[in-house]
Amino acid sequence: MTPSAAANSPLGSLYVVATPIGNLDDISARALNILRSVALVAAEDTRHSARLMQHFGIGTPLAACHEHNERDQGGRFLARLLAGDDVALISDAGTPLISDPGYHLVRQARAAGIAVVPVPGACALIAALSAAGLPSDRFIFEGFLPAKTAGRRARLEQVKEEPRTLIFYEAPHRILECLQDMQAVFGDERPALLARELTKTFETLKGMPLAELAAWVAADSNQQRGECVVLVAGWQAPEGEEAVNAEALRILNLLLAEMPLKRAAALAAEITGVRKNLLYQVALGQQKDL
Ligand code: SAM
Repeated sequence: MTPSAAANSPLGSLYVVATPIGNLDDISARALNILRSVALVAAEDTRHSARLMQHFGIGTPLAACHEHNERDQGGRFLARLLAGDDVALISDAGTPLISDPGYHLVRQARAAGIAVVPVPGACALIAALSAAGLPSDRFIFEGFLPAKTAGRRARLEQVKEEPRTLIFYEAPHRILECLQDMQAVFGDERPALLARELTKTFETLKGMPLAELAAWVAADSNQQRGECVVLVAGWQAPEGEEAVNAEALRILNLLLAEMPLKRAAALAAEITGVRKNLLYQVALGQQKDL
């Protein structure tokens, strides 16, 4: 039985095991122990994971659990768990479910009353954030952006005034376009950081304003290779200006549809706590734009 499996339970446990994102030394002793002792390892790509297992001399059988078969094959893993076998879930790199398969299996297992046990380890977004020097007390992870510029810019517009640090995954062949779109939407001066090839030989962490970062990547094709995480500082209201957040704006617009501008601004201010004059100016500006 694996080290922390629920004692006396006739059911198996599902271990969600993080694997390295580059440097194999980043695997934990606990992860190795669990991969060795479970009955089955559910892997995103069995050939890829076979190399990892071989490297550590682990012979546990592997079975595919990727995004195309996860819903259908979930039943197969569930049957093993219900029969009392422990199963480990791994992805090609890092933490399963983080822009990787596993969500459906974890949900199904939890719904069936199976203990789901996290075995933490490498995760590219956390590794990047831990070394970026950008505010780390509050952040949001946006995963991969849409592949085409129109969709990507639309998504970036949604988080343009997000005050928390923003974290994105991006494919190397799109990194330049992605940074250029970020520059267009967030502005030239917004601080950002590109974290490339983390824990690998050519690991690079480069932090500078978006315009400079995009130009730096454009000028060096080596920076358009390998795996990357992009971090962008959260939005800050220009000095002396208060933020009119999305919720205040929504309320203001609802009221504007029902009453005169001055009354709408006053009422919105009362509801939201945002300064009346600021809301008044925003409403005036909107009218001018019409
Ligand atoms: N589950 C993984 C995790 O925990 O980070 C993420 C898997 S996702 C399919 C792959 C993406 O993660 C890459 O495109 C890249 O954005 C990021 N990534 C993975 N390994 C990385 C590394 N060594 N350096 C930088 N980014 C990495």
